Amino acid sequence: MNHGPQRADEGLFDVDTQDEEPEDLGPTGRPLPDLPEPTPPPAGPKRAIIIALTNQKGGVGKTTTTINLGAALAETGRRILLVDFDPQGSLSVGLGVNPHTLDQSIYNLLLSREFSFDEIVLSTTVDRLDLLPANIDLSAAEVQLVSEVAREQTLKRVLDPIRDRYDIILIDCAPSLGLLTVNALTASDKVLIPLECEFFALRGVALLTDTIAKVTERLNNDLELLGILATMFDSRTLHSREVLERVLEAFGDKVFHTVIRRTVKFPETTVAGEPITTYAPSSPGATAYRMLAREVLARCHAG
Ligand code: ADP
Ligand code: MG
Repeated sequence: MNHGPQRADEGLFDVDTQDEEPEDLGPTGRPLPDLPEPTPPPAGPKRAIIIALTNQKGGVGKTTTTINLGAALAETGRRILLVDFDPQGSLSVGLGVNPHTLDQSIYNLLLSREFSFDEIVLSTTVDRLDLLPANIDLSAAEVQLVSEVAREQTLKRVLDPIRDRYDIILIDCAPSLGLLTVNALTASDKVLIPLECEFFALRGVALLTDTIAKVTERLNNDLELLGILATMFDSRTLHSREVLERVLEAFGDKVFHTVIRRTVKFPETTVAGEPITTYAPSSPGATAYRMLAREVLARCHAG
């Protein structure tokens, strides 16, 4: 075995992966806020805060963030509902549910009054984390809803009656700005936008913020941008850091201090069908999503 060049490689790799940021500054270059350990949810009647995770670009980390933020929030003692609102059903897959074998899904709740929430909702391997699953049927809903009265309020009508059962509801949107996403935004209090630290990350974001503004004006006056989450960050590449800087220039304090780094652990968790917080509880990815959970609670004044 030739150890020489191998060691040289390892050495270089070590230097590359070292954190370049000074200790008191977070990955976004701003001082990290002192976020306290989340307290348990307040006792008494619940009224869930509903958050849509939206970006019409695919592959930016919407589904990964929905699962792992949801699991991290559930760890704080809160009751969490995850809503799969993408006909691809990736959220369901990521939680170990095979969407093709589902007889009933969120589609039935949207388009028929015969089904109750309890018939469709599934519990997951994570305590206090429930799932409203979806599959390809949901793509038919997008077409069928067009002719419905108050078609933009359909998801809101499904979620409003069960808000008292959960502390937080996260909606994983499809990669489009069509009627399904408008339904998600109409049903939500807040919107979280994941942006990947890659070329063209900001392309299309103007269209997204424009859609959010229109929904706020016409359908849901209470909708607020909760924050921008930088995902797929690779601190070793100048490119990733440059994109993050552009995102900070564009959105300032709306950008979460938490940055999600690129790691193969996330694709692995999809195969495992569980969140990173249980698959690799002490990994940097799990730690990052717990940190994001704290930021989300602080921004919702629900910590
Ligand atoms: P979206 O829902 O926006 O389409 P996903 O969350 O499904 O995006 O992510 C797209 C792909 O990238 C998936 O295969 C997922 O496992 C992977 N992925 C997500 N986040 C990360 C990350 N931080 N590092 C590496 N791969 C990631
Ligand atoms: Mg997705």
